[in-house]
Amino acid sequence: MSGMKSVPQPKTAALGRGGVPTPSTPDQRNEGGPPAVRKLLSSVVSGLDRPLRADDVASAVDRCLPLPDLVTCLNPLCDNKCSWPKGAGRPREYCSRSCRQSALRTHARLTDEVMLIEQVLAQGSVRYTDRVRLEAHAAQARWCLRRYPTGGE
Ligand SMILES: [Zn+2]
Repeated sequence: MSGMKSVPQPKTAALGRGGVPTPSTPDQRNEGGPPAVRKLLSSVVSGLDRPLRADDVASAVDRCLPLPDLVTCLNPLCDNKCSWPKGAGRPREYCSRSCRQSALRTHARLTDEVMLIEQVLAQGSVRYTDRVRLEAHAAQARWCLRRYPTGGE
């Protein structure tokens, strides 16, 4: 890929395997005693003997597991990171405009290839070796396509 540069960024929230926040993250602010364990938001607000209110949840978001604030660029061929903006500002989905355009072009190309192959296979009377080759190519293209976001910007 062109147009990608690796910019080192501070890691402020760790992700576990597969991008899932690691449960039971120790709270670093609790010096001295045993580290407090951060929980799922639903567990922090559980156990109330009355219906849950917005202020219950609002006060619990700081005590639950932190959300990741550094994630991988949405272009599946890119390893750069996108960070959640510190102040106001739109969060970035892609590390750069060129990376986004590259991802959109690749998505369109893969979609076209799958459609073309489906078209010719639907005509029937396809030689066995051609069918095998075409189905394998379409399967790989679909496998790639599952990595691309379908909505968003
Ligand atoms: Zn990128």
